[in-house]
Amino acid sequence: MPTRIRPVRPAAAGHAGRAAGGAATALLAAAALLAPAAAPAAADTRAAARGHGPGFTPGAPGGGDPYFPEEGNGGYDVRHYDLALDYDPASNALAATARITARATQNLSRFDLDLKQLTVKSVQVDGRSAAFTRKGQELVVTPRKGLRKGAGFTVTVAYAGTPKPVERPDIGTFGWIRTPDGAYVVCEPDGASTWFPSNDHPQDKATYTYRVTVPEGTQVLSNGEPGGQTTRGGKSTFVWNERSPMASYLAMLAIGKYTVQKGRTQGGVPVITAVAPNRASELKTIHEKTIQAVDWEEKVFGRYPFASTGGIRVGVDVAFSLETQSRPIYGYEPDTPTIVHELSHQWFGDSVSVRRWKDIWLNEGFATYAEWLWDEQHGGPTAQATFDDLYKQPESWTYYKELWLNRKTGDPGANELFTLTPYWRGGMTLQALRGRIGDKAFFALLKTWTRLHRNGNATTEQFIALAEKISHKQLDGLFHAWLYTKTKPKSW
Ligand SMILES: [Zn+2]
Repeated sequence: MPTRIRPVRPAAAGHAGRAAGGAATALLAAAALLAPAAAPAAADTRAAARGHGPGFTPGAPGGGDPYFPEEGNGGYDVRHYDLALDYDPASNALAATARITARATQNLSRFDLDLKQLTVKSVQVDGRSAAFTRKGQELVVTPRKGLRKGAGFTVTVAYAGTPKPVERPDIGTFGWIRTPDGAYVVCEPDGASTWFPSNDHPQDKATYTYRVTVPEGTQVLSNGEPGGQTTRGGKSTFVWNERSPMASYLAMLAIGKYTVQKGRTQGGVPVITAVAPNRASELKTIHEKTIQAVDWEEKVFGRYPFASTGGIRVGVDVAFSLETQSRPIYGYEPDTPTIVHELSHQWFGDSVSVRRWKDIWLNEGFATYAEWLWDEQHGGPTAQATFDDLYKQPESWTYYKELWLNRKTGDPGANELFTLTPYWRGGMTLQALRGRIGDKAFFALLKTWTRLHRNGNATTEQFIALAEKISHKQLDGLFHAWLYTKTKPKSW
């Protein structure tokens, strides 16, 4: 998500299809009550007779991230999501089948998927019906036979309902958001599980196929590349493939009557840009600036990590944009810094993803720094000047406390992921590092970081270790002062 040197996230403008926060909660509670009555104990007993016995244990209900203990799950690794979605914009009704290909990482007697709302109709594992229960946001699946460690398996979930957006005081509205002619989906940090069953944590990246059926005349855009379109009986099905591993929060759909422009960057990356009809005047600028930004970023950060790029300007104005993989979603008319920011996330966040949410500065500090570097190399202030401006602000400055005293850049807190600290102080951390190790080592570090962890996950500790290795300097003090104190660093 973007921000600049101005207040983050003004209150979201009202827009169509917004649900009261309480509605989603109520639905969730109702879903839990209405869950099919397959008693887990009975299912386990039956299953034990078929080889679930000793040595086969349930996968953990959470992925182990202290910020979001229930997000993600243990015991398996998803390889691919194949999501067949039938969506009616007029009623907001969704009927879907998710086919998830995974590999067991332990001898599994049962496992969880994350699914926050919607009604599950059936679950199959390797083509055979499986017992399931709903427990809060967990969809608990008990296959007929235990799954051996290392074995591949496929879980198919048929589900339906009317997806609701998520409301959080620190972020606003995200998840499945209706528009006058359709809907779009932006899920950071934990909204993916409101529209498909998933291992909803960036640690478990996977590839995606979307097959989205909508009324004829409506279009569907998504991550990755188009895989064809068919129309029959008044309905059109659009296929999109994201072939690079992707964190679930970056999964995206834009459904509506879009105007699409295709092209290529100078470096040869295919570009697909789309705007809602009431934003037609923004198409040319977004398309051209996307090309400029990606060409420049390839020079600074290394080869573009995915098979295509672009951007989507939705038809409603909301308070934020999101770096959805290969093709950001813009919730307001994006200026150049916003486009540079969201596209820099393709390297920092999308290709190199956090392993734990506390490391969010690896996304937002770097994307903020990308804005400063763009300015520096395009006739604006240097990154050092931007750093100096922020550093010299007096205690009376509006953001003084928020930036310097409230939280740690490297561990801001689950409800403070998108506050100024990971963004600005994160960017300042990189400038402080650049000042210490020099331009040559610093820019080599950026390119090495994106190359080493391409399509993977990484941690702050790994970044510090790499910075020390490339610079031949001991940097503990610098990173401690900038990332792990709640005071304004005085020396580093
Ligand atoms: Zn961002």
